[in-house]
Amino acid sequence: MKKNLFEYPLPALEEEMLAQGQTRYRARQLYEWIYVKRILSFEAMTDVSKAFRATLESDYCLDLPRIFRRQDASDGTLKLLLEMADGSKVETVLMRYDYGNVVCVSSEVGCNMGCAFCASGLLKKERGLQASEMVGEVYLMNQLLAEEGERVSHIVVMGTGEPFDNYDELMKFIRVMNEAKGFAIGARHITVSTCGLVDGIDKYGKEGLQINLAISLHAPSDEIRKKIMPIASRYDLKDLLAAVKRYEDAGGRRVTFEYILLKGVNDSLACADELSDLIRGTLAYVNLIPYNPVKEKPFERSPEKTVRAFADRLMKRGVNCTVRKEFGTDIDAACGQLRVKYERAKK
Ligand code: SF4
Repeated sequence: MKKNLFEYPLPALEEEMLAQGQTRYRARQLYEWIYVKRILSFEAMTDVSKAFRATLESDYCLDLPRIFRRQDASDGTLKLLLEMADGSKVETVLMRYDYGNVVCVSSEVGCNMGCAFCASGLLKKERGLQASEMVGEVYLMNQLLAEEGERVSHIVVMGTGEPFDNYDELMKFIRVMNEAKGFAIGARHITVSTCGLVDGIDKYGKEGLQINLAISLHAPSDEIRKKIMPIASRYDLKDLLAAVKRYEDAGGRRVTFEYILLKGVNDSLACADELSDLIRGTLAYVNLIPYNPVKEKPFERSPEKTVRAFADRLMKRGVNCTVRKEFGTDIDAACGQLRVKYERAKK
């Protein structure tokens, strides 16, 4: 079977080239063709010898997922349903902010974390995505943006799946995206979001990368969290906050706590008080997310004035917070709405 070059961080590709009797420089040349010049034909890589181009042709490939369906939202958000080589399908979303083009990447086919409010978890995990498949999500979006003279500037791993449940492939993907001689997305422009896998946070903190970490907190107490996030029965808030502290102390970047406001569940002022007490002492700030309705789920969106009051209360108590801007609600591309409808319709 041909090896997909999208699978290789640069140091691994250098090793691969050495094993092929080439130099490390060959790997850097390939990286430039693939990620800087965006050339996917080995034949067109004219500074590679003809003989080695034949080896590339016979032993390697540059396969991308297939765009199965494209949806464009009225606000410019773009959602792609991508089909992998084995027929699995995942969704990827492009959001256009003032500061750049952000791709929300899925890390798994389905998700086993079972968060009660989330559409993505309606499909159980079939498998983790390979690094090359995650690279493919971003690469394809970048190809589409190139037609408009733009490029992907930021990556958030917040689509379907729990990234730390697919840790090794995730890290390979990040290293490919972050490589200065290739795609060159700065570490500070990459965010990984976890529902709170403590082991993963600890491991991630030791990688020595200046990548952002977001924690899906969604509740100020174990009691409420256990009702909406099964992971809370594995790691309580004390364990989770201790891991965040270790992460910050190890030199990691500031952590963002994601908090979806669910009407009557976690949106009272008492919850805001409890939340501010909970995270006091960390460097974190809170990203409040208005809930996007999912028809199979019993939750309702908090009224706008409740969201405002919750945010004001946090600020008054010294917690920095923002209310997340919403994208693509008319194509089910907003937070917590990703799902593979095509697959479900077939079942
Ligand atoms: S919120 Fe994230 S971790 Fe939870 S079920 Fe949805 S995709 Fe999985």
